[in-house]
Amino acid sequence: MSENFEPVTVLFGKNVFNDVVMRERLPKNVYKEFKKTITEGRFLDTSLANVVANAMKDWAIEKGATHFCHWFQPMTGLTAEKHDSFISPTTEGTTIMEFSGKELTQGEPDASSFPSGGLRATFEARGYTAWDCTSPAFIKETGKTVTLYIPCAFFSYNAEALDKKTPLLRSMDALNKQAIRVLKALGNNTSNSVGATLGPEQEYFLIDRRFFEKRLDLMLTGRTLFGAPTPRGQEMSDHYFGALHERIASFMHEVNVELWKLGVSAKTQHNEVAPNQYELAPVFSTVNVATDHNQLVMETLQKVALRHNFVCLLHEKPFTGVNGSGKHNNWSMVTDDGINLLDPGSTPHDNMVFLVMLCAVIRAVDKYAKLLRASVATAGNDHRLGAHEAPPAIVSVFLGDQLTDILEQLAAGGAKESKAGGHLKLGVSVLPPLPKDSTDRNRTSPFAFTGNKFEFRMVGSSQSTAGPMFVLNTIVADVLKEIADELEKSSNVKTSAQKILNKIAKEHSRVIYNGDNYTAEWAKEAEKRGLPNIKSTVESLETIMDDENVKLFVNHKVLSKAELNARTEILLDAYSMTINIEAKTTLNIAQRQILPVAIEYSGKLAKAAERIGNAGSNPDTQKKILDKTCELISELNNGIDELKKAAAAAIGIDDTAKRAENCRDIVVPAMSRVRKAADSLEMIVDARMWPLPTYAEMLFVK
Ligand code: ADP
Ligand code: MG
Repeated sequence: MSENFEPVTVLFGKNVFNDVVMRERLPKNVYKEFKKTITEGRFLDTSLANVVANAMKDWAIEKGATHFCHWFQPMTGLTAEKHDSFISPTTEGTTIMEFSGKELTQGEPDASSFPSGGLRATFEARGYTAWDCTSPAFIKETGKTVTLYIPCAFFSYNAEALDKKTPLLRSMDALNKQAIRVLKALGNNTSNSVGATLGPEQEYFLIDRRFFEKRLDLMLTGRTLFGAPTPRGQEMSDHYFGALHERIASFMHEVNVELWKLGVSAKTQHNEVAPNQYELAPVFSTVNVATDHNQLVMETLQKVALRHNFVCLLHEKPFTGVNGSGKHNNWSMVTDDGINLLDPGSTPHDNMVFLVMLCAVIRAVDKYAKLLRASVATAGNDHRLGAHEAPPAIVSVFLGDQLTDILEQLAAGGAKESKAGGHLKLGVSVLPPLPKDSTDRNRTSPFAFTGNKFEFRMVGSSQSTAGPMFVLNTIVADVLKEIADELEKSSNVKTSAQKILNKIAKEHSRVIYNGDNYTAEWAKEAEKRGLPNIKSTVESLETIMDDENVKLFVNHKVLSKAELNARTEILLDAYSMTINIEAKTTLNIAQRQILPVAIEYSGKLAKAAERIGNAGSNPDTQKKILDKTCELISELNNGIDELKKAAAAAIGIDDTAKRAENCRDIVVPAMSRVRKAADSLEMIVDARMWPLPTYAEMLFVK
């Protein structure tokens, strides 16, 4: 045991300005007022803010902090921070440490270089950050710098959202408002609010740092743009849930300790399917805190990896030929008095609240399938969704036997019974019979009911969870609003609710699919059912501005039309920029690393053939290999020429959507052509000369 061993219970949350610390450090009346401000979502008045700020500063300074920062989440999908020290010089040439309520609650970090999608021209550069007091402040130690972090929203002079957090918070309000209406109408008079919960499972790869440093593609794009398949991949299923390697386990331990200190409840860790792929899952929390925490998880994984001479790859598809990485978003709704609205209980068929909530989610997912798809559309995720890997780009819902049966009963007029789970008889005398879960699992479904929550599996591993979660919150709020409108004006709530369930069960059964989502049959079947199958990011992003989506976001005050439009522009632009960087990196590596080596090797072959001939032996084999090498060199060179032209032409297109389409249709195929020739060369060129670490090295060295 190390010298400075601290039990986890002591360690946990020690760097968080949480409820316990507040209760301890704030005057009783201030604490009470402040809690009320948070729960009622009211404006924080200045005198209150001053007291809180002061307590926060004292606490932070005791922990070694010299700086504070407003921590926000611009549209890059990453986090941003600008540090200010607490010092305030006095006239005597000394300094005191100050932190005012205003500094806590509001900042103006210029920050004009973040994407705004035209909402904010640089000449009117004012951008503001405002404290999101529903997510606790915390202290982060980076090297020797200790800083107080204040989670913030980021918006423009005209209060337009410039970040990922603002619409997420707005969507939580929308969901709360409509869900409470439904609950009240159904006779609940104990709950005051409903919050969305999120537990994001994070997948990632770890590769040895020395390989990373030799791969410009990994350094600049996060994924390999070249690499012949490894002779051994994941086909033996021997990595999945395998015993943790010692070096990995040490890494994971350090990640956990760092996260626990930050109050992130890192819980589950294991080997994933692909070699050198892993997963970390925290215990769920409210969706905005979980989103902040997931950013900390991604950052901590990367930071700690370097200390262990690993690099953590968060890209959705770092390696062709083995599984990519996702971020499964487990989502539910819970009341302030602790009722999980998606908990079926033991007899779901007569649990009206559950049935209404379940049906609301089903209708929302079917009605807004394209929007949900667009919420996970990124260049990186294109390699997962719609490729021959799961989940597919078709949005469908897995319910399992029991709930599917209940839905069928609802469609037929009303649910009268719930299929029991029964017992699993294991046929081994030393093992007792286990109660059987009433739903089996389905790992191929993009949107699966898993016991008491839904698991949205299409989210990309490097993505902020904010986008997909504010979409999900809003579409569910929208359906709950329809239901609340109906129920509130009804004289017989039970009958009206039955009617609503019946209608939804009939209308939306098409989105339920319990089978294997990876198969070609499902794609065919889905088409018959009229479900959209939007394969590419560009095509998907182009659906965002559809009328029904604009109406949705405007009605629920989550995004204005201008804000939605700005976001669409930013996302399309990000796609083109990503492809452009990949294209330029492909060219760089192909021209400067692969082509020279291939030419050198062909020279060696030519010389060998000549010498062998001179020595009186038959040089035919050498010549054959030489011919093949020369053929591939010429193919590689042609590919390079084509890609150069394609990339230059695409980037010159003004219209954002057209530019993105051009990247997808012309640049991406040109990149594939270069890669194909290069990967074929890798298979014949002398391994001692090959300039890039191989797939086998990156995936199997630990
Ligand atoms: P799996 O078996 O699907 O891999 P994990 O245990 O890895 O499951 O992850 C499940 C995730 O779901 C955890 O983050 C867990 O906290 C979360 N979760 C459980 N209940 C809820 C809930 N009610 N709302 C949101 N997330 C939940
Ligand atoms: Mg899961």
